[in-house]
Amino acid sequence: MTARAPKAVSETGDALLLTPGPLTTSRAVKQVMVHDWGSRDADFIRINKAVRERITEIAGGQDGYVTVPLQGSGTFAVEAMLTTFVPRSGKVLLVVNGAYGHRAAKICAIAGRAYVVQETAEDTPPDLAKLEATLKADKSITHVFVVHCETTSGILNPISSVAEIAKRHGKRILVDSMSAFGALPIDAKQLGYDALAASSNKCLESIPGMGFIICRIAALEEAKGNATTLVLDLHDQWQAMEKTGQWRFTPPIHVIVSLHQAIEEFLAEGGVAGRGKRYADNCRILIDGMKALGFKPLLSDNLQAPIIVTFHMPTDPAFKFQEFYDRLKDRGYVIYPGKLTVADSFRIGCIGRLSADNMRGAVAAVREILKEMGVTRCAPAQAA
Ligand SMILES: *Cc1c(COP(=O)(O)O)cnc(C)c1O
Repeated sequence: MTARAPKAVSETGDALLLTPGPLTTSRAVKQVMVHDWGSRDADFIRINKAVRERITEIAGGQDGYVTVPLQGSGTFAVEAMLTTFVPRSGKVLLVVNGAYGHRAAKICAIAGRAYVVQETAEDTPPDLAKLEATLKADKSITHVFVVHCETTSGILNPISSVAEIAKRHGKRILVDSMSAFGALPIDAKQLGYDALAASSNKCLESIPGMGFIICRIAALEEAKGNATTLVLDLHDQWQAMEKTGQWRFTPPIHVIVSLHQAIEEFLAEGGVAGRGKRYADNCRILIDGMKALGFKPLLSDNLQAPIIVTFHMPTDPAFKFQEFYDRLKDRGYVIYPGKLTVADSFRIGCIGRLSADNMRGAVAAVREILKEMGVTRCAPAQAA
């Protein structure tokens, strides 16, 4: 028997998270948190201000946009965005091809916002001709909501085309770029969105606990009084922060300090271009390696975002997912179960503090594990 590769570990000795977030972070991103800060103290206020300014710059929003941070996971930010920006008299068209689009519909239903869902299958991009026709026919629609990378499948949605169509019909644009912000180019000016939501623990590679919404200032001013809850009122959060530099309610201080460090590392890597390239390389190595073993990705290359890859579950009876998962974890690689309704699948992420060598190591571990499990056929049943 050949010697097995040593267990893969992160900078802090943990298993590597090949997941869509929370994800593997650097040692420094965790180490900077080993302090206490006063939430009303100048030191923290300065860090908070810097984080907000950097995020606005990363978004290309220096002229006319502002970043409003919010306590909670990414969904809190999406709910705050929808309920702050869509007025009670408004109506939002939701472009849906996965679980995060459906979640937006649930948010609108609970908040009492009128909405229409325009859905395609999880492996299918939005129908732009239908979008155009719907916006033309239904004059009561005020907003269009789209998910940038639908993390359910890993599909890259054509947000520029969606935004262009929405603008042509005079509709406002809201984007969930949670799993793409920081890795894929998204220029605020070019897209002209009213708001875009993302979070601390995805491509900016910090820890979980905070979302943020990049808001067009003129639209945020108009949004006063729209909110249905106090805590998710982005206009109020913004106004209070502008006046005092402080958060309205207890801030996730350690997350903000960690995110500040993560943004320093992000800029040192070359910003969106540098990080996007590392993720694209990770994704290429993963897909090529898994294909060579016989696995079939759900999406063709032109639809695949370099964030997370969905693979069809092999039908070889020797392949048992839980065993596969446990054996990979034992070698230091944590992968992600599938979330698709269209096919039985599992997912492997390319984001977080992961190198090309880490991805090659993961593929090598998969190869060894298949051998141990006696799996000979990794293709799904229907595949040619
Ligand atoms: C991660 C993610 C969210 C937010 O999920 P939380 O679990 O609330 O952090 C929203 N939309 C997309 C596309 C995501 O990938």
